[in-house]
Amino acid sequence: AQHFLARAKAHDDLGAYVHINEDVTLAQARAADAAIAAGSSAPLAGVPIAHKDLFVTKDFPTTAASKMLAGYQSPFDATMVSRLADAGCVTLGKLNMDEFAMGSANENSAIGKVLNPWDKARVPGGSSGGSAAAIAARLAPGATGTDTGGSIRQPASFCGVTGIKPTYGRASRYGMIAFASSLDQAGPMARSAEDCALMLSAMCGPDADRDSTSLDTPAEDFTLRLNDSLEGLRIGIPKEFFGDGLAADVRAAIDGALKEYEKLGARLVPISLPRTELSIPVYYIIAPAEASSNLSRFDGVKFGHRAKDYTDLLDMYKKTRAEGFGDEVKRRIIIGTYVLSHGYYDAYYLQAQKIRRMIADDFQAAFKECDVIAGPAAPTVAWALGGKSDPLANYLADIYTLPASLAGLPGMSVPAGFGEGGMPVGLQLIGNYFGEARLLNAAHRLQ
Ligand code: GLN
Repeated sequence: AQHFLARAKAHDDLGAYVHINEDVTLAQARAADAAIAAGSSAPLAGVPIAHKDLFVTKDFPTTAASKMLAGYQSPFDATMVSRLADAGCVTLGKLNMDEFAMGSANENSAIGKVLNPWDKARVPGGSSGGSAAAIAARLAPGATGTDTGGSIRQPASFCGVTGIKPTYGRASRYGMIAFASSLDQAGPMARSAEDCALMLSAMCGPDADRDSTSLDTPAEDFTLRLNDSLEGLRIGIPKEFFGDGLAADVRAAIDGALKEYEKLGARLVPISLPRTELSIPVYYIIAPAEASSNLSRFDGVKFGHRAKDYTDLLDMYKKTRAEGFGDEVKRRIIIGTYVLSHGYYDAYYLQAQKIRRMIADDFQAAFKECDVIAGPAAPTVAWALGGKSDPLANYLADIYTLPASLAGLPGMSVPAGFGEGGMPVGLQLIGNYFGEARLLNAAHRLQ
């Protein structure tokens, strides 16, 4: 813990951490030392990790990288935080992110941007940009992330680390500040699939009393099948993931990884996910719709920021929200309330829900022909800081991660080589429901 805290301080310019409290971390580390000395059997005893600032923590502030939560202190730990603590982990601190997890470059953080450790002139990806950068720069050996539409897989790809989003419902959302509840999933980010498997084993499992969408599927030891043979594994290659929008350097790295899989005995099977393109409009209707509802709780009364001068209650709400939310969050709230409003609900929200179901059905058709699906996690390597100021350009770059999110499927990104400027490229692996162990196995064999 001391080693990583010192590194975090020395590389503060990266902007990865938003809250550090050495006293708390070292007290946890001493307690872990004592537990180990007493023969603790906790699987991650003494392993220091850091948490995305979307998870509430009782020993550190929680801001979701928003001015709205400045000064907020949670009275309890998110289930992901307490589960990892129960497994023996020590918390190094909280990590930067896009405000309320809305973004793809970590440039929507109210606290400050995060630099990509591979090239400090580039973005780390988002929204779990702080988590990815911290691991890449060895400021933490592992971290939590959250993925609503790609926020674990895309930053993992941009920073050359490994990350997995489990099947929707396997990891409890209790204490994970809600963005789009039907999509939000927690997952681990680390240097390797093996480290992710260790963390994920501690994170999954039912939490029905606290998260009504938590599945009662028991926790699993995801390390058991890491070394399984890939002989005969059918890897589906969706043609829609290899179209014109894919940069040539990323394509070359992905092709290289797929060749490796063939050498390991896997078979590449051409498949089609015909509604891939529609996942962008569908996601950018459903996610803002849910966000507009979830974020109504930030009203100046219950949590964090409240405007100083106001005339009455309505004026207090208005001023608080105008001051507290950043531009992208406001944009999503406006889109969300619009698509849910009378007269537009049928035209937008209902249509989006129907296509969401079709996207999930397309995956089920594809999984009749293959065991896992592989493709790029993102169309390009990490772009330059400030390089995509148009929100639509950011949305479009989510094309390969959104389909699995909409279907609730597990997905991961594993380092697969390098592209333009020596920047890392991530291979995305998508599994069928509860296929995490197979994904981690395939990722591990590539590493
Ligand atoms: N980039 C997507 C968005 O801005 C995904 C974010 C996420 O997964 N939290 O909504």
